[in-house]
Amino acid sequence: MVTLDDRFQQDARNTAIKYGTTFDEEWIDMQAATFMHELGHNFNLDHGGLIQDEHDETNCKPNYLSIMSYSLQFRNWDHSRPLDYSGMVLETLNEDHLNEFNGIGVLLVDRLFMVQW
Ligand SMILES: [Zn+2]
Repeated sequence: MVTLDDRFQQDARNTAIKYGTTFDEEWIDMQAATFMHELGHNFNLDHGGLIQDEHDETNCKPNYLSIMSYSLQFRNWDHSRPLDYSGMVLETLNEDHLNEFNGIGVLLVDRLFMVQW
């Protein structure tokens, strides 16, 4: 059992209204995502990726597709996000040399991924 405070219940209600689902569906997903997120910390994962020599705590990175990122932990921004950790390493993004036509270096045909800048 994962305990989330009352403000998350309102987020679940809002997400259910936004996507035409139910509170229970969203609430179960939020609890599962939170459990997996916290478990991921025990697997040496942080909000910016795998904890290695240099600890990257950067959160909400557009090139880190994982529920470890706060932008994907809950599906209020991207309802099609899988309940999963990152299965790939995407290229490092350099803000001074971004090419928007290249996106984030991966084509996600079956789902909408909203990059946050
Ligand atoms: Zn965390």
